[in-house]
Amino acid sequence: MDVRTNSRIQLIDITRSLNQEIVDAGTTTGVCLVYTPHTTTAVIINENETGLMEDILKLLNDIVPPATYAHDRIDNNARAHLQAVMLGNNACIPIEDGRLDLGTWQSVFFAELDGPRSRRITVRLISTTMQT
Ligand code: ZN
Repeated sequence: MDVRTNSRIQLIDITRSLNQEIVDAGTTTGVCLVYTPHTTTAVIINENETGLMEDILKLLNDIVPPATYAHDRIDNNARAHLQAVMLGNNACIPIEDGRLDLGTWQSVFFAELDGPRSRRITVRLISTTMQT
């Protein structure tokens, strides 16, 4: 899955796209692995509420404030790497009845931390339906 981000730091809800991939693949029961192969992005699961999304971005900026970081000597994006480390690069979500089995208030987000850029998200669907 490809995404085009348009801010330095941004959360993109990819739940709908993931559910479409599951429908297209015909997977009814299984596991959906969502993985980002970039070192300045992350994958998280939380609530898609505008205020909360602002709060999450503020938290990330507060936890990793502007400073002089060692990595900035070779690449001016240490903050983004450090924010990515805090969040993690994958999520593993059960699939039931042909869709992500998320909680009522859960959405899957791709977190851009050093945008804007074109990004790739790796999605693997593992069917665990019993063959009879
Ligand atoms: Zn870097």
